[in-house]
Amino acid sequence: MIHTVDIVIPVYNESQAIQSFHHQLTAALEALPYQFRLLYINDGSTDETQLQLEQIFNGAPDVRIVELSRNFGHQAAISAGLDLVDADAVITMDGDGEHPPAVIGQMLQLADAGYDIVVAQRETGQKASWFKRWTSGAFYSTINRIGDTKISPGAADFRLITRPVVDSLKKFHEYHRFLRGMFAWMGYRSISLPYTPAERISGKSKYSFKKMVNLAANAIFSFSLVPLYIAIAMGGLFIVLAIIEAIYVLSFWISGQQSTLEPGWSSLMFVLLIVGGTIMISLGFIGVYLGYIFQEVKGRPVYLIRRFLDHPSSDNSK
Ligand code: UDP
Ligand code: MG
Repeated sequence: MIHTVDIVIPVYNESQAIQSFHHQLTAALEALPYQFRLLYINDGSTDETQLQLEQIFNGAPDVRIVELSRNFGHQAAISAGLDLVDADAVITMDGDGEHPPAVIGQMLQLADAGYDIVVAQRETGQKASWFKRWTSGAFYSTINRIGDTKISPGAADFRLITRPVVDSLKKFHEYHRFLRGMFAWMGYRSISLPYTPAERISGKSKYSFKKMVNLAANAIFSFSLVPLYIAIAMGGLFIVLAIIEAIYVLSFWISGQQSTLEPGWSSLMFVLLIVGGTIMISLGFIGVYLGYIFQEVKGRPVYLIRRFLDHPSSDNSK
């Protein structure tokens, strides 16, 4: 049975949204028969977010705040939170209001029914821009085709995990994190719970194009070796083409018609360019993996904590 529940909320420059998010959340939690604690992770915000969070903290004994030393990114911020919680179940959700707190009750019911991971699954986001929907759709179909771990589309980082799963996650020391993929890899009894996303309370998405590309790269390169095989296959294909071409040219020589061969500058150039391109792409793939390995072997921490605000008496979660 689940008694204590920690809620981990990563926030980055959400000063416009955080107060009303907090009110929505606490209002939704009041009716539920569990003991909740909230853990806000300020992911190096450069606006008033920390100030707002401290105001919330001062008025609420069940709120804790972690301030990271800089912006480490959404996945790292969630990881920081998960390393600090000790409740029977932990829920991670965004602090911008897009993850409706009303779903939390159902998540906990499912956890009480014996599920270890409850993933809230966004019903095909009518609200998201076509660009986000399209890139997200393409992303999930690609990753599921080439990766070894199946990841369901629309599963953002709004999920409940129970104590054993949290403990297991702490055994992962990888620097490049794609939590959705890591949870899918871990197994456990998992279920998805559809929900309709709400509107962002204020401000705009903090997932810049660069951050989206980074997340996609982490998902692909840390979950799949297929890009390397693609490179090898392309190389193989061009070697076969080269052999066919050699046989073709040889056939002219054997039949004594070599003088009819074109000087062939353009075809040579064509092959040269394609082969050159393939080699560069292959090298690029290998380079990316090398870079990932380089960053992993350094064993750097995933995040750094500047400050941890906790109420002295709040350790009543056990
Ligand atoms: N976020 C974060 N660090 C970042 C980017 C985002 O902690 O570097 C937080 C953000 O404040 C929000 C959540 O992660 O609570 C999801 O981000 P966002 O809403 O910008 O992403 P989207 O919902 O557009 O995918
Ligand atoms: Mg959002």
